[in-house]
Amino acid sequence: MLDDPKLRDVANEAIESRKLPLYRPLRMWGGPATGEQCSICGTRIMGAALQFDLEFHGDQPGSTISYHAHVPCYGAWERSLDARILAESTAALESLTAEEKAETQRLLFAGSPGTIRSGDASASAGRKRR
Ligand SMILES: [Zn+2]
Repeated sequence: MLDDPKLRDVANEAIESRKLPLYRPLRMWGGPATGEQCSICGTRIMGAALQFDLEFHGDQPGSTISYHAHVPCYGAWERSLDARILAESTAALESLTAEEKAETQRLLFAGSPGTIRSGDASASAGRKRR
């Protein structure tokens, strides 16, 4: 088993070289090792190790493609992927103008069920109870 900083490097390398698609799997299952090769670290999943079977979109519409990974390798890959997506989203948001940020916020929160505006029936009902 690899220690954590090494595992992170292996996961980052797997992302850089796109050993797996760069999104979370459509479906995944866990189970005992079957001797398959880990798509992230490249070694076989053997012995008492647990493995994840990961299903992603395939090349053809409606098709799927499967990968296998050690559980700790998958965890490191997922954390690295999330960190990259967050960094890219933050960079994209920071590159927006003030008007674009306001428009993005308006679109994100427009019609949100949790939003209560003054004059809403629920807000009026609250006032009447006092
Ligand atoms: Zn592995």
